[in-house]
Amino acid sequence: MPAALITGITGQDGLYLAEFLIAKGYEVHGLIRGQDNPKQHLVRSLVPEVQLHRGDLTDMTSLVRALRDSQPDEVYNLGAVSSVAYSWDNAHLTTDVTAVGVLNVLEALRLHLGDDPGRVRFYQASSSEIFGKAQETPQTERTLPWPRSPYGVSKVYAHYLTINSRESYGMHASSGILFNHESPRRGLEFVTRKISHGVARIALGLQDELVMGNLDAHRDWGFAGDYVEAMWLQLQRDEPDDYIVATGETHAVRDFVATAFQHVGIDDWERHVRTDPRFTRPAEVDHIVGDASKARTELGWKPRVAFRELVAMMVDADLAEQSRQSGR
Ligand code: GDP
Repeated sequence: MPAALITGITGQDGLYLAEFLIAKGYEVHGLIRGQDNPKQHLVRSLVPEVQLHRGDLTDMTSLVRALRDSQPDEVYNLGAVSSVAYSWDNAHLTTDVTAVGVLNVLEALRLHLGDDPGRVRFYQASSSEIFGKAQETPQTERTLPWPRSPYGVSKVYAHYLTINSRESYGMHASSGILFNHESPRRGLEFVTRKISHGVARIALGLQDELVMGNLDAHRDWGFAGDYVEAMWLQLQRDEPDDYIVATGETHAVRDFVATAFQHVGIDDWERHVRTDPRFTRPAEVDHIVGDASKARTELGWKPRVAFRELVAMMVDADLAEQSRQSGR
């Protein structure tokens, strides 16, 4: 039975990946932060098979211990301070976790592996935020990064550190450059879930308006459940390498809003939406879209859930939850 260690197990991707690996017959271990992390109950109820280890990406000794105790064949580093908006106000914390945290995992792994550095396969969740002010369209594995936030800068560091680990030490280290991927498990601090949650509440009469930032930004949005399969496929390759994971389709935030409202039968959606500079950012990633042809040809990966289905899935999940909570 292969074993995997996942950092970021309590997040959207960690939960989907844990479910995916358990279905494949893996023994799954997760790193859990803090003394009494409230999200551990989520892991225990959704994926009770997961064995949790206490640790923190900023505490290298805890990572050495987690590796020793879990003896993984594969390590998936999904843990990060993951909100771009939050990263401006918390730039040091973002750097400590999202950049230096990756150095800690890779160094702990290098110590753990001794003179057999390729024995455990390492996956780094890299991000389309590295492209920021995009230097070409669509973005490929060879596009020059130009990050636009403390989060993006941290992800560039982590991406190149991963590449350097395989080039310098022969580690089996791969990066997946994941474009935005969403689901009903996405946190409310991200725009898609903020919209699906707000639209569901407006449809049920629990809220009147949705207050938004920049509606003109374009993102390549896929379904997180599809993206964790690409993570696993990447680590099954004998040669470590980096792959873009994206749908190849881009939509404005405005399209997501309109599609979500249309899904609940509201066509005059503009009546319910107001913009407020409070939600705009010091620098914006205006337009990104990924070219995942390398993943398609080499990994045989393609996304299954298209844009409209994703919006519908998220709005329906929020409608169900909000009507259960409110009794409407
Ligand atoms: P990101 O691509 O990792 O920054 O993911 P987000 O979901 O946080 O943001 C996606 C885009 O939505 C960005 O261009 C934001 O500026 C834009 N956006 C517009 N209004 C909002 C809002 O109210 N909240 C968030 N999080 N983003 C917003």
